[in-house]
Amino acid sequence: MQDAHGREITYLRISVTDRCNFRCRYCSRPSQLLPRDRIMTFEDIVTLVKASQRLGFRKVRLTGGEPLLRQDIGELVSMLHGLGIRVSLTTNGSLLALKSRELKSAGLDSINVSLDFVDPVKFTYMDGGDVALVLRGIEAAVASDLETKINVVFTAKHERRDLVELLHLAESLGTPFRFIELMPKNGSSFNELFRPIGEAKSMLESITTLAPDEVPPDSGPVEYYVTAQGVKVGLIAFFSMNKCLNCNRLRVGSNGVIYPCLFRTAQVDALERLRSGVDGAVSALLEALSIKPLHGNPEEIGPEMQEIGG
Ligand code: SAM
Ligand code: SF4
Repeated sequence: MQDAHGREITYLRISVTDRCNFRCRYCSRPSQLLPRDRIMTFEDIVTLVKASQRLGFRKVRLTGGEPLLRQDIGELVSMLHGLGIRVSLTTNGSLLALKSRELKSAGLDSINVSLDFVDPVKFTYMDGGDVALVLRGIEAAVASDLETKINVVFTAKHERRDLVELLHLAESLGTPFRFIELMPKNGSSFNELFRPIGEAKSMLESITTLAPDEVPPDSGPVEYYVTAQGVKVGLIAFFSMNKCLNCNRLRVGSNGVIYPCLFRTAQVDALERLRSGVDGAVSALLEALSIKPLHGNPEEIGPEMQEIGG
């Protein structure tokens, strides 16, 4: 389905919970957690995805908060897989060692795991969790044959040796790593932590060579390279890369609010319409598409990260 600016919108990111067990410094939290009856049920999410398929959406990503905290997440994956749409998930990895097999057998097509540092002290400083759990989770995902990518939010705390460690890990796991430029979502920490993604590229080039690689379709604002060791490295920047013209997505908060842009306050509260059935959900998605702006505005902070899931 095309939006008002002629962009093909095919990708729906759905937050399944606003709860999280980590406290990443750069991530913004809603001031209050949602009451349970304001959170989409699995049936609501299925209705939403059926409606999106009617409009030509081809891919769904489940996110959060931390999506693996949602009870019976495997059941939801299985319900969505049964609709014949591609299903991916983004996780902090802390519960992945427990859940990777279940997710694979439920039909999950791919998984992105966030891992900012291999160093346990730096990891805990940045993310407020235990890196050993995340590393175990990543190994379990790879062992379960889930197509796995690692996301690193690149910040001023990254030194060359951190990137060396991350690249070694990527090489031993055989998984692509993507470095993401920090977005201005958490004011005070943004000023302290921001560093342009170009600096990640220079740092990587001081360690290895980067040969440009093809960007898969539906990938959003990403550039891909392959290192001399054969590791696929992505660089993602919503603003520096000025790729709003390639934007292909809508985001839905766990409360059923549709956000046409990460950096706009415009939104469509779809929960009641979802609960009226697929036609209602289609009308909400069409309304969101009709107000999707051509560009984000970094001054207009928009929805909280932990609510819409990146
Ligand atoms: N809890 C899960 C996780 O951390 O992967 C899913 C939700 S999290 C909000 C989704 C992604 O957004 C993560 O890769 C996280 O690192 C990224 N993220 C959060 N805040 C960000 C920010 N201010 N700038 C760039 N990426 C951010
Ligand atoms: Fe939680 Fe993910 Fe935000 Fe970190 S980035 S606080 S893991 S939602």
